[in-house]
Amino acid sequence: MTLLLTPRDVALIVQAQGMAGALRCLAHEVEADFRRWNDFDKSARSASHSRDGVIELMPIADGALYSFKYVNGHPGNTRIGLSTVMAFGVLADVATGEPRLLSELTLTTALRTAATSALAARVMARPQSRTMALIGNGAQAEFQALAFHHLLGIHRIRLFDIDPAATARLQRNLRHVPGLELHACSSAADAARGADIVTTATADKTHATIVTPDMLAPGTHVNAVGGDCPGKTELHPGVLEAAHVVVEYEPQTRVEGDIQQMPPSFPVTELWQVLLGQARGRQHDNQWTVFDSVGFALEDFSALRWLYDSARELHLGAPTELVPALTDPKDLFGQIALHGRARSAACRAVTAATTSDS
Ligand code: NAD
Repeated sequence: MTLLLTPRDVALIVQAQGMAGALRCLAHEVEADFRRWNDFDKSARSASHSRDGVIELMPIADGALYSFKYVNGHPGNTRIGLSTVMAFGVLADVATGEPRLLSELTLTTALRTAATSALAARVMARPQSRTMALIGNGAQAEFQALAFHHLLGIHRIRLFDIDPAATARLQRNLRHVPGLELHACSSAADAARGADIVTTATADKTHATIVTPDMLAPGTHVNAVGGDCPGKTELHPGVLEAAHVVVEYEPQTRVEGDIQQMPPSFPVTELWQVLLGQARGRQHDNQWTVFDSVGFALEDFSALRWLYDSARELHLGAPTELVPALTDPKDLFGQIALHGRARSAACRAVTAATTSDS
């Protein structure tokens, strides 16, 4: 049987562990997997582009488990009542190919992206960082705010979105978080003023310029989340030129990240190298650092394993016959007759009940 997890199940897992606990667990799992980078069979995700967005498949495997995520990115979706990003995924046994878990990954993507952002900032931002600008206050934003608050000790967040209602929603949702101050700002430049960390999570299918060099004080760490697709960027090239840039998986980020604006020889470091101490997250206190995040399959692999273990511990989810449970594994054909007979019997029972009622 395959365990099926809905958004409700994932919400219940987060409730049970607490938001801080869930983000901490995820960051721990993601870090553990990045630290065993060479165990994974990796590839850049395959993307199907259309006029209004992209649909992507993100596979990865180690020797024991295989996972993939289906995810879209349609920045215009919120205008028609749909999320910009929607996702689901599968965790399967490598030894047999049997799917263990089929799960929602929309909420989970926001959780794992925020946990990964905080993990990268832990090794890239200055340790005394306390103030963050959060530019783009859509679906990802509360998760980013809470990950930086709980995992890094950020206690002041300066908010900006071109849609004031998005900023107001974020303020409403997080108004009761103890020790977290939220300030609405009048522009991206205003939000970045005095910030130790600048997070960008905007959605627009264009080469946007959300952060320019004049907005950043020496030593700022930029957590660039929204530039994650060819033709969709957030940072002025001048920011990248002057910064130390860390990426998840170079072959994918060269195509999708903000560094798509830079020549192929532009130097970058991969996050796993920093986590293993093979490279530095920042060289000095006055340096700009950029985590050019696009989202890598390994983070979803870690998240799916966390969901599976948590759901089993909490007895959540529905065991579902996603692939046929066969008594004779060669008799696949027999399933058609079996289910046909079961349906006919059910129809006869309904007819008999209706006839006796009338
Ligand atoms: P969303 O549509 O819910 O929110 C995006 C917000 O950005 C909206 O409120 C919009 O008004 C705002 N915005 C657009 N242009 C802006 C600008 N110029 N200045 C300020 N605000 C602006 O989308 P979301 O789910 O929050 O995702 C945000 C971005 O993050 C998307 O681009 C998405 O593709 C990306 N994303 C990346 C990862 C990753 O792993 N790196 C994971 C998930 C989502």
